[in-house]
Amino acid sequence: MSIIEGLCKRRGFIYRSSEIYGGLNGFFDYGPLGVELKNNIKQAWWNDFVHGRDDIVGLDASIIMHPNVWRASGHVAGFSDPMVDCKESKLRFRADQIYFAEVKIDGHTIGYVSVLEDEGMQAEAEKKAHELKRKKGAQGELEPVALKNYMEAKPGEYDLIPSPATGNTGTLTPPRDFNLMFQTYVGAMRDETAVAYLRPETAQGIFVDFKNICDTSRVKVPFGIAQIGKAFRNEITPRNFIFRSREFEQMEIEYFISPEADWKKLHREWIDACKKWFVSIGLPECELAEDVHPKEKLAHYAKACTDITFHFPHGLQELQGIAVRGDFDLTQHQNASNKNLEYFDENLKRKYLPHVIEPSLGVDRTFLAVMTAAYTEDEVPNDKGQPEKRVVLKFSPRIAPLKAAVFPLVKNKPEIFEKAKSIYERLRRRWNVFFDASGAIGRRYRRQDEIGTPFGITVDFQTLEDGTVTLRDRDTTQQVRMSVEELIWHLTDKIDGKI
Ligand code: ATP
Repeated sequence: MSIIEGLCKRRGFIYRSSEIYGGLNGFFDYGPLGVELKNNIKQAWWNDFVHGRDDIVGLDASIIMHPNVWRASGHVAGFSDPMVDCKESKLRFRADQIYFAEVKIDGHTIGYVSVLEDEGMQAEAEKKAHELKRKKGAQGELEPVALKNYMEAKPGEYDLIPSPATGNTGTLTPPRDFNLMFQTYVGAMRDETAVAYLRPETAQGIFVDFKNICDTSRVKVPFGIAQIGKAFRNEITPRNFIFRSREFEQMEIEYFISPEADWKKLHREWIDACKKWFVSIGLPECELAEDVHPKEKLAHYAKACTDITFHFPHGLQELQGIAVRGDFDLTQHQNASNKNLEYFDENLKRKYLPHVIEPSLGVDRTFLAVMTAAYTEDEVPNDKGQPEKRVVLKFSPRIAPLKAAVFPLVKNKPEIFEKAKSIYERLRRRWNVFFDASGAIGRRYRRQDEIGTPFGITVDFQTLEDGTVTLRDRDTTQQVRMSVEELIWHLTDKIDGKI
């Protein structure tokens, strides 16, 4: 992760928010290349799921909504994570991310160890168990270290489990619920009646506008409403770069279906469509997996939930959740608002509250997955034909921040410079392209490789004679000559796809 984080900072993809003031944990700024990549991801999603389908319409709801929205949805009462404080270090942890184990020798407990959830936590716990044994001067064979979640600790164990921050015992509190919603006040009053919340998900805006959309557009069940927008969660432990932050963006769809529909089939279709989309933006299929939530872990109203997971640098983790939520949300809002939200089905000739399938995806997590998949270190020949190490971001041309870079081979030949400029001007009317005339051509290629520009176009002496340019492919570094017309066809095909 640190390699990707370093590259993101160095090449202007992502900075820590308010960095000159020391940063603010869980908040990030997307720099010049980052904002392009992020916009391209959102645009690709919107094109494929909204413009590309007849059964989905878009919405952009406000971030701050009536506080009753969050009472009805259950977020005020229940959108919380279990939190644990370390009284000594003053650090705060998510209880479900702390793991502990009794350290035993011949059935006799000599103490406890604790670790934070991580790929290597088992090995770390075993190392700590050996250290504890050495410190206590205990003899005999250690029993296997069996990690348990802090949520499973018995009240008598809270004082015996060492803090993951200090290693000292007696400093951890029992878990308590911590509501993740950010509060603010609307208007001039600062009392309870003015409390409002920054939305912790975009989905509720969709449910609350369901009736408006049915009444004002020609949608018919089954249909979906899609939304891209900011969401805010006061995460107890934001970590793993942009994987878990406090301000992030979501791309969510509520797909409304009849209560009689074959939801299992539709759920499967959604999982497949979402996986296909990830592959279309460059995530290798072999890096994606499915995590089916067991029945006992589902919310009481949910029928099923499958996460699409991805091999992030810190392990196989949730990228997108695809839940079948029944009619819970519409029922809650209908009851709380006293407004009839039922849909009249012309085929069935009756009214009902539709059920929903909810594909819910984080933009920032998709960004991190795209970065992870694209990051490659390889060796290519340099200007002298010798192998040279390079870092290359192999973004799919569709979402690459810059689509092409145009290079005049030499700077001091005005005809070449002007010709390159005119090709650049022509291309930039359609795509985000870059012009670079400074430095050795090999160095210029390398700079673009590191930011993932898929195509390099070089204007040289031959261009002045026959109008052809060379087109260099970022991944293979191979070059082919072609006319400018052929170049435009080629780029259209690779960037925008076949028409
Ligand atoms: P997690 O279990 O990782 O906290 P979640 O199950 O609470 O996630 P959902 O509420 O289902 O997540 O949110 C839908 C999607 O929004 C997630 O799959 C993820 O892509 C994204 N997301 C959720 N929380 C965050 C966050 N704190 N930072 C970045 N993205 C997030």
